[in-house]
Amino acid sequence: TADARVAVRTRALTKVFRGFRAVDAVDLEVREGSVHALVGPNGAGKTTLFNLLTGFLTPTSGTILVFDEDVTGQPPERVARRGVARSFQITSLFETLTSREHVELALQGLTSQGFRFWRSEKLLGRDRARVEDLLEQVGLLRLADKPVGLLAYGQKRALELSLVLALEPRLMLLDEPTAGMGIEDVDRTIELIRRIAAGRTVVLVDHNMRVVGSLADRVTVLQQGRILAEGPYDEVRNDERVITAYLGE
Ligand code: ADP
Repeated sequence: TADARVAVRTRALTKVFRGFRAVDAVDLEVREGSVHALVGPNGAGKTTLFNLLTGFLTPTSGTILVFDEDVTGQPPERVARRGVARSFQITSLFETLTSREHVELALQGLTSQGFRFWRSEKLLGRDRARVEDLLEQVGLLRLADKPVGLLAYGQKRALELSLVLALEPRLMLLDEPTAGMGIEDVDRTIELIRRIAAGRTVVLVDHNMRVVGSLADRVTVLQQGRILAEGPYDEVRNDERVITAYLGE
């Protein structure tokens, strides 16, 4: 509806790399509480847009509002404090630590640099319950004490989602959460994202149209840094320009 609140609004957002317009005058609107997919051929600017929204890149021009607050040019820590959390395509798990230990670290806001000062005994009982709740949400509770190196690929990706969830984000940005997965893991991940999307806003980049079609309330199609089409999945997927853009890939 017209009065739905907006989680993210960009105006003429532009990122130029040495004369090349990777993101070009993008006006993106993500409604609060929705799952919003960003799709488009390789090189369309999806990752660059993600990096702009989370403060990992500074725009060349244009503005970014997150929950009505102007975050343009703010560093990632400041944007994160607005309740924005993202997942990465590249895993950064410690093979010798367990899932439980990873979630404990995430809840303590620790990075790999702070790790050697960490002691598991310091966790309060309240936090232990929270750790188990997060592991339960992603289906890893029964594997909580296994070293991550022994987990299957799909389980590692589920663990990564729990680490993003630990930050209790209002806005969650997921970068190709099903990349490299077989069909069973894809279906499990779709269900998982559906559950964790309840009560928050999710922006999702995924090449798998099954994922986008199952999850996304709205889809923005990017091509050469510009918005080619925007709307509900069924509308967008039948759009002639979108079909042409994909065939031309
Ligand atoms: P997508 O995620 O949709 O595949 P990207 O955002 O990764 O697209 O890239 C969009 C375009 O911007 C590509 O042509 C890419 O080569 C270029 N690009 C991305 N990052 C940089 C960079 N740091 N320097 C120069 N060009 C870049």
